[in-house]
Amino acid sequence: MKSIRIAIDGPASSGKSTVAKIIAKNIGYTYLDTGAMYRSATYLALKNNLTENNVAEILKALAENPVSFGRAEDGSQTVFVGDKEVTLDIRQNDVTNNVSWVAAIPEVREELVKQQRRIAKNGAIIMDGRDIGTVVLPDAELKIFLIASVEERAERRFKENKEKGIETDFETLKREIAERDYKDSHREVSPLKAAEDAITFDTTGVDIDGVVKFIQEKAEKIIDMD
Ligand code: C5P
Repeated sequence: MKSIRIAIDGPASSGKSTVAKIIAKNIGYTYLDTGAMYRSATYLALKNNLTENNVAEILKALAENPVSFGRAEDGSQTVFVGDKEVTLDIRQNDVTNNVSWVAAIPEVREELVKQQRRIAKNGAIIMDGRDIGTVVLPDAELKIFLIASVEERAERRFKENKEKGIETDFETLKREIAERDYKDSHREVSPLKAAEDAITFDTTGVDIDGVVKFIQEKAEKIIDMD
């Protein structure tokens, strides 16, 4: 049995993390949420009143408060910066609406990509983000690019936020998702785009089970090879 690396990229709320978590559990792989790492860097920047003119300070805050992951009693993933748990803080609107500028800083990306590659070194990993198939793991054995209409993605995020107790207005959410897509796709470093050898899958109207099945079958086929 082969131990592979699975890269799942796509725009905001395209269902990447939901399906990646389920597949990781089903096949006993490690799941890495790279968006949570950029969100954690953003949390640190905001907490210290830093802007894009304070790159050295953002890097210092990241070095002093490294991002790490843990597990809650119910089995869900928790996120820490240093020893502070930020699982919920990094999903709040202030972080969501500032993450694009932090993620566009080349030095921040360089540092986080280094950490992501270290975590992926031993394989048996499924990672989701924007640049996994293009930059972080260009030789991943399976690359998936998930897309869905803005309308459907806003509906998914609206439901998710409601469950987490985060107040949002649907139309605002739609606009914010479209804006984040635009910024992520048009930034100079590692813009959001499908790798040439990625399989693009439009999940509009497809339920979670359907997306999981599609990706997991492809993964198992490669894992079972030779
Ligand atoms: O996936 P999630 O929506 O949590 O990601 C938050 C933000 O982090 C994205 O909008 C993007 O700006 C940034 N990101 C990135 N590269 C990744 C993962 C996330 O630039 N690999």
